Amino acid sequence: MQITIALTKGRILEETLPLLAEVGIAPLEDISASRKLLFDTSRSDVRLLVLRGSDVPTYVQFGAADLGVSGKDTLLEHGGDGLYEPLDLGIARCRMMTAAVAGVAAGSGRIRVATKYVNVARRFYAEQGRQADIIKLYGAMELAPIMALADEIVDIVDTGNTLRANGLEAREFIADISSRLIVNKAAMKMKHRLLQDIVDRLTEAVKKVR
Ligand code: AMP
Repeated sequence: MQITIALTKGRILEETLPLLAEVGIAPLEDISASRKLLFDTSRSDVRLLVLRGSDVPTYVQFGAADLGVSGKDTLLEHGGDGLYEPLDLGIARCRMMTAAVAGVAAGSGRIRVATKYVNVARRFYAEQGRQADIIKLYGAMELAPIMALADEIVDIVDTGNTLRANGLEAREFIADISSRLIVNKAAMKMKHRLLQDIVDRLTEAVKKVR
């Protein structure tokens, strides 16, 4: 039986590979130096897929990958259908926040919110009982309030330096973010022994390094 694990290049990959190595799974070539997207590993029954972050939950949801590593921000936006989320890897911790121009009071009426996380934003403002028109952006969210495209943004914040450098301030907390292990629900039944073993061993590996 084959197991496919979906990962993303960059920080998640660099911090996930040592955890996988603890579990006896190592790619047979240097992933960051390769243009390939599918990699064999030291375990003949395990392959690694390298995807865009926002595609990882989709591959796992539909069973094209059995396991994946995905940021909680991406999972909140995706919705989590068809996925279990058995383990917080503790990687790439930050917060999802709203932000606005520093010192400018929040408007009381209908506001405009620019974000990459349109589903998260829609849910958050609805829960707050605030009327918000959500504008989808693909990057440089910090510019939107300055250029009067939007009153607020929803984005991830770590040190807050990026917000400060652009004259913005964090306002309301939405969620704590970190990378999570995700598992396809159907695969967890069909390949239970193999997948549970990897989940258990990764859980131990995370305890060891944290
Ligand atoms: P900071 O200036 O430290 O608040 O970080 C700001 C930017 O870095 C954010 O807008 C994100 O684009 C990116 N960033 C910070 N932390 C993370 C993370 N854990 N995962 C992904 N992107 C992050």
